[in-house]
Amino acid sequence: MGTPDAWDAAPPGRATRIIVDLDAIEGNVRYFRDAVSPGTAVMAVVKADGYGHGAVMVARAAVAAGARSLAVATVDEGIVLRRFGLDVPILVLGPIDLSEITAAIDATLTLTLADERFVPVLAHAARSSSGSLPLPVHVKVDTGMNRFGASPERSIPLCRRVIGHPELALTGVYSHFADADDSDERFTRSQAERFDAILSRVRSAGISPGVAHLSNSAGALRGRAYDYGMVRIGIALYGLSPSPAMTLPNGLRPALSLRSRISRVHDIDVGESVSYARTYVAERRERIGLVPIGYADGYRRGLSNQGVMAANGSLLPIRGRVCMDQCVVGIPEGSDLPIGAKVEIVSADVSAPNSVAGIASSLGTIDYEIVSGLSRRIPRYYTKGRRLVAVQDLHTVGLVPETL
Ligand SMILES: *Cc1c(COP(=O)(O)O)cnc(C)c1O
Repeated sequence: MGTPDAWDAAPPGRATRIIVDLDAIEGNVRYFRDAVSPGTAVMAVVKADGYGHGAVMVARAAVAAGARSLAVATVDEGIVLRRFGLDVPILVLGPIDLSEITAAIDATLTLTLADERFVPVLAHAARSSSGSLPLPVHVKVDTGMNRFGASPERSIPLCRRVIGHPELALTGVYSHFADADDSDERFTRSQAERFDAILSRVRSAGISPGVAHLSNSAGALRGRAYDYGMVRIGIALYGLSPSPAMTLPNGLRPALSLRSRISRVHDIDVGESVSYARTYVAERRERIGLVPIGYADGYRRGLSNQGVMAANGSLLPIRGRVCMDQCVVGIPEGSDLPIGAKVEIVSADVSAPNSVAGIASSLGTIDYEIVSGLSRRIPRYYTKGRRLVAVQDLHTVGLVPETL
């Protein structure tokens, strides 16, 4: 902080702002593009509104940097990307509701099939839709996660069923790792072996599986053993780690920071309490500051009396309960923080105590939950070369300027 940046020059708006560095997103995509085996494509996973970063701008940056396709969890998420002009293949990773089929087909989303019973329903809907045919689908097989996917025994009949319908095109077969971030790689390897066995049975049955893919970020960070035709990169695309046990390589860096400004400064006396339930009581005369962020923004209440923010080189501890829209920090003696002073709530510096990882660790959770929980009420400011290039806020409800 200190030097003027895009944030200072930003248009008027709420003091509390997420800054997403699109250069970091692009650099992270390029890192994987360069690292993976020749012939392996990079898919950018932008579900959950781009892990809280804003899916549209992240998707645009990822595609510009060489991601060949996108993945989302729900049909709605895919439709929003299409509406904003993203025309690469978009895979819907999760199960969908029957009522969503027509909308999914019209948006030419690639659906994931894991159950034979769904196939004729989808083929029938594709036939009667105005969308372009054949509709691409991926078959998902379960190799040990026991979440979504066909059992190994049902995988071949499922693929057969898909290729039996001319309205459908089998363009991929995939599976998902359960613990690729674990230091013990044995289960990961066994999942890959099961996946290999399924793929070879698909091929022996005379069926082309299309692109085979297995790795998430953790699998891809392990090395090249699980590359197949494509890797699905989520958390590492944002420069964050799949788990505290995995240190990210230097080529990856966090894209998100979250800042605000102090909106009140005052002194409290010994014995005075702060915020609801009076869980913090001053032991000496102390200066405190008000920061306009709360748990409704995704700044979790578990950070009450636990979390820290940073300003002007000092750490500011949270005092008392985090409220819905505001919280209070202690201002260390000697740090000159007037009303309007910039506060770094979440730092993009991985070693800072208020990094995403630092916050996740003090809440006993993972980086994924912290960033995906940042609510839409916080405007997202996108920078490139430190210049502000786009804003996504509540007024635009996900809309961003088309000029970018
Ligand atoms: C979310 C998800 C990913 C991305 O996982 P990361 O750990 O964020 O890289 C990949 N594949 C599937 C099926 C997913 O649901």
